[in-house]
Amino acid sequence: MKILVLNAGSSSHKSCLFDLTQVSNPSLAPSPIWRAALDWTHAEGQVELSAETESGARLKQSLPITDKAEGIADMLKTLVEGETQVLASLGDIDGVGHRVVHGGRDYVDSVRIDSDVKAAIQRLIPLAPAHNPANLQGIEAMEAILGDVPQVAVFDTAFHARMPAAAATYPGPYDWIDQGIQRYGFHGTSHRYVAQRAASLLGRDLTELKLITCHLGNGCSLAAIKNGHSIDTTMGFTPLDGLMMGSRSGSVDPGILIHLIRKEGYSGDALDQLLNKASGLKGISGVSNDLRLVIEAMEQGNDRAKLAVAMFLHRLRREIGSMLASLGGLDALVFTAGIGENSALIWQKACEPFAFLGLKLQDSPTRSAADQDIAAPDSTIRVLVIHTQEEWAIAQACLTLI
Ligand code: ADP
Repeated sequence: MKILVLNAGSSSHKSCLFDLTQVSNPSLAPSPIWRAALDWTHAEGQVELSAETESGARLKQSLPITDKAEGIADMLKTLVEGETQVLASLGDIDGVGHRVVHGGRDYVDSVRIDSDVKAAIQRLIPLAPAHNPANLQGIEAMEAILGDVPQVAVFDTAFHARMPAAAATYPGPYDWIDQGIQRYGFHGTSHRYVAQRAASLLGRDLTELKLITCHLGNGCSLAAIKNGHSIDTTMGFTPLDGLMMGSRSGSVDPGILIHLIRKEGYSGDALDQLLNKASGLKGISGVSNDLRLVIEAMEQGNDRAKLAVAMFLHRLRREIGSMLASLGGLDALVFTAGIGENSALIWQKACEPFAFLGLKLQDSPTRSAADQDIAAPDSTIRVLVIHTQEEWAIAQACLTLI
């Protein structure tokens, strides 16, 4: 069984192929046998195509293409031609799993794609204007290239879709509920995967655990997970809410936006750019959106970088505290994604204020290629570092549904 996964964005496409006949233990993610990417930001009128196989063959090409569907077709050609060939024919692909950012209130789980699902993704474009159009285009390109191969949509929002109304509703006017203005939450595929993996590492049933999962990458979000469902999360109507991030502000007083519109004449697009691209670690430090570089600058005495790291930690700790209150208890705190998987400084500083609960880390936890428990043996709460495997989770969802 061969499953293709596509993550179609507005400026990049990432794809990989899993050969599920080789998998012996499905709770451990296997490496894809092929992965490829299209980068549309490299140069005007061109796309940068890269592909590599598990066995080490690599390809890099600039193609004079601007049409996304054409780029996707060229990317798939590397599966069946040249040094990166891993399939005899594209007909060997048994199913395609798509990352789809917004499933709105309609989708609480992954789903086989048909005309109704495509219409729903289209209808939800106003809620995810940067992502859903690209996701839909990816689905249609695959249909055009692969014919009627089964396709599955795995929604970023689905894992959070059973959040209680009190957590999901914003305290604006009641009409917002009818308008679909509510907390949806994102990174759901990652939060769901690491929660399942945490249960497996702890040797417990997910339905009996209380977990806080911290997805800390360029985008950052927390989820409070009880009985196997997300009951609260920090991202909201859009992925801009909640924690301070690489270049996104996270939550700010909405009065600031009113002030900028009234006093500085900001447009919607200008606010979008400011809050999504020029804020967060990058905006405060003036150094980078990359936490490694901000920490480096802090260590060299850069005061803005020091403030950025202190703010990142302050907000992370405060939001962990709020997830803890939503759960009313905690079995394990789970760190994942670029920052969460790698930064010992963040593990230590994020856990510090919870020492009063008996949460205690090992003396000097270090990063590892394997998933690990970094809590001290006598800690009352486990602290797990788990490598997120969103592509594998999408492939598994696809396999289940086809
Ligand atoms: P994305 O959300 O784009 O998938 P990643 O999950 O790859 O991003 O996370 C990127 C972030 O991870 C960057 O801020 C990067 O600095 C951070 N990161 C990666 N390795 C480390 C490390 N060793 N220490 C601190 N931060 C790290």
